Amino acid sequence: MEIELESEITCSECNHKEVETMPTESCQFFYECKECKKVLKPINNDCCVYCSYGTVLCPPIQLDPNS
Ligand SMILES: [Zn+2]
Repeated sequence: MEIELESEITCSECNHKEVETMPTESCQFFYECKECKKVLKPINNDCCVYCSYGTVLCPPIQLDPNS
């Protein structure tokens, strides 16, 4: 199964876009925007910032066929 590790994350504050490489072993809960320095947190019940703001879901979700 192919896992996509690069996700383009979009800041909810200033709409700055940045391509980041996601960690495979854990979920990243906080992300600081490189432009406005706002710290993004997951929205609703998302497990990490990449699921909320990224173009690609995080590796643990990609590996779990039930979600
Ligand atoms: Zn920003």
